[in-house]
Amino acid sequence: MKNAIAHYPYEKPSLDFMHTYLADAKTQQVENSCTLQHAWAKVPQPMSQEQQQSYIEDIKKLLKERRAVMVAHYYVEPELQDLALETGGMVGDSLEMAKFCQSHSAETLLVVGVRFMGETAKILSPQKTVLMPDLEATCSLDLGCPIDAFSKFCDEHPDRTVVVYANTSAEVKARADWVVTSSIAIEIVQYLHAQGQKIIWGPDRHLGGYIQAQTGADMLLWQGSCIVHNEFKSIELEHLKKKHPDALVLVHPESPAEVVAYADVIGSTSKLLKAVTHYENQTFIVATDLGILHEMQKQAPEKKFIAAPTAGNGATCKSCAFCPWMAMNGLEACLNVLKYQHQRVELDAELIVNAEKPILKMLAFSEQYQKFSQDNQHALNEGVQAFNTWLMEKKHGTAW
Ligand code: SF4
Repeated sequence: MKNAIAHYPYEKPSLDFMHTYLADAKTQQVENSCTLQHAWAKVPQPMSQEQQQSYIEDIKKLLKERRAVMVAHYYVEPELQDLALETGGMVGDSLEMAKFCQSHSAETLLVVGVRFMGETAKILSPQKTVLMPDLEATCSLDLGCPIDAFSKFCDEHPDRTVVVYANTSAEVKARADWVVTSSIAIEIVQYLHAQGQKIIWGPDRHLGGYIQAQTGADMLLWQGSCIVHNEFKSIELEHLKKKHPDALVLVHPESPAEVVAYADVIGSTSKLLKAVTHYENQTFIVATDLGILHEMQKQAPEKKFIAAPTAGNGATCKSCAFCPWMAMNGLEACLNVLKYQHQRVELDAELIVNAEKPILKMLAFSEQYQKFSQDNQHALNEGVQAFNTWLMEKKHGTAW
């Protein structure tokens, strides 16, 4: 499948690259990413087709035996995404994963993504066993928002509503009033702004800045960033766009503002995915983790996808548009965790109760907003005002 994708320099780094990177990383202070070199070192070695097939068969057997379901993020390796789908699980963004884990009847959830996704699954389903291929697979946003410092920041501004992105630890979620994902962040902030609330936003400064610009809300931003999205380069994107004038540029709002400025479509992973079938364009330039190209190519096999540039002026040795923590998930680790159940997500019961509240608020809001959008296509242009009126009429305003 990958052969169908245009080969702009986005290839996953080779082992040689990683060794060079490891050497470089020792002399570099990479912002908010203290375990980056560790993550690259744990990226699984490539396998032969036969080896892959043998692991896949064994995993299928164990998923059945353990009555487990596999839930994968769009950014993990294609074979893991396919396996999740083939075995009755799902592939999605973090909001879709959370909803699926909460509603599925399986006793064991195998969450293939990064740590905060497994924690969210555990928070929403504490009675279930939640396994992850590697509990050390984390996220630079999570790492860059330690609970003590973030809590102090919140304490200094007690008049503000605390809204945090899902890419945070359970402790940070428990400190928040709302948890949001990029698929529903703008709507929730718009809603809070309309209620006259001032906001503390954490941890992604680019997404926060984008939401602030879109909603006009009064937001204090924590200064975290995603090491993958932070790497997209605006000058090279401009050159690429000139070379492909008919291409539609799809950008995740975790990218820097100067990259977002070149976007034709800005949105969550799911929104970008929908754009490839919604628009008639035959070529798309994609600025998000390149794991998503697998699903894009499946949904629109006749179309061409070009990775937005991370190389060029200002590039660093870590430019490759693949998340090293997502890349830590592999078939062997999936098989081992199903066999030994050693990588379990465990959280303190009180922490679960406190972290669940802001997540449930988001899920309730998202459900109501979805109903509203389905019933009121014509009113969507009126935005949050129409939604607020609809809520009052339905008396859902107290649901959160
Ligand atoms: S791609 Fe960025 S936001 Fe997503 S898990 Fe990796 S570091 Fe975190």
